[in-house]
Amino acid sequence: MDLLPDAYRKMDPEEIRSGIRKRKEELGKRLVILGHHYQRQEVIDFADHLGDSLGLSRLAAAQEDCEFIVFCGVRFMAESAEILRRDHQKVQHPDPKSGCPLADMADIASVQRAWDRVAGADPGGKVIPLTYMNSDSDLKAFCGEREGAVCTSSNTRAAFEWAREKADKIFFFPDENLGRNTARQAGIPQEEILLWDPEVSPTDPDIESRIREATLILWKGFCHVHTDFQPDHIRRIREEDPSAKVVVHPECSVEVVEAADAAGSTEYICRYVREAPSGSSVYIGTEINLVSRLASEHPDKKIFEVFRSLCPNMFRIDPAKLLWILDEIGEVNRVHVDPGTKELAKVALERMLKFS
Ligand code: SF4
Repeated sequence: MDLLPDAYRKMDPEEIRSGIRKRKEELGKRLVILGHHYQRQEVIDFADHLGDSLGLSRLAAAQEDCEFIVFCGVRFMAESAEILRRDHQKVQHPDPKSGCPLADMADIASVQRAWDRVAGADPGGKVIPLTYMNSDSDLKAFCGEREGAVCTSSNTRAAFEWAREKADKIFFFPDENLGRNTARQAGIPQEEILLWDPEVSPTDPDIESRIREATLILWKGFCHVHTDFQPDHIRRIREEDPSAKVVVHPECSVEVVEAADAAGSTEYICRYVREAPSGSSVYIGTEINLVSRLASEHPDKKIFEVFRSLCPNMFRIDPAKLLWILDEIGEVNRVHVDPGTKELAKVALERMLKFS
């Protein structure tokens, strides 16, 4: 992993901005810069496309002229672009240390051990593994190899319904809250949900019978950015502004989602704000950079955060790192996923098309 050279740290902001503009001009259509919704505005100013991780990766792969893909987001996003890229394309990440703590909560070795217990507890039954997009490539490959799939926050319910038609149980990782919120929508009763805590469940003496009784097994993982939101925040908003609407991301707790008016993916939240009547107040429970951008894009509406919550991992990417990558295009911080993992992860991603 290469780290940002000192020379870039010492540059003044205008020098960095004009450097990026110059490199973009020189590279033309050979370069595509992807920016996730949670990136800071100074980075998004240079993105060719803004969106969610899957949409962006697909978009870049569809552009035949594009030779270099620079993904401004966290590591699993850059890996997804690497999995879906065309043969002639190269993917680079401005800061490989920018990981996702939620994705890191389910490592392949722990998931494999859990899977062995789950499958072993009910040998006659069938389990489908589903992984959220926010996971490492080897987990996506794990699902690809076992008839499972990847899902996003906009199609988790469809993924659950698809998997329930094929199997007796679903094993979903790594986000417990997204799993619980989706179970409520899909009508899966709470008593049929088993929470798999990798620290505790393997030593639970009753775990085999609890696995047999469950139809949905959820990995104990969470996004600290979205679990910062509390029902009390929403209660206070309602007291102060009874006509306001509250929309949150489904990585928030069930209690927060229940207290809100609506919940959905980043794309859903953008649409919700677009479609809100002019003059209305909308409070948003997701990463602060997206909330601030929506507020500036919709000056005719009053857009606020439920609570200020920033993703420090997304924030690691800045214009200086972007310029450095553009100066070293095709060279530094190339994203690599080994070919076997890539092939199986792609199978799991393509299987998503069956339900989305
Ligand atoms: S907002 Fe949460 S899920 Fe998204 S990258 Fe940050 S930690 Fe991961």
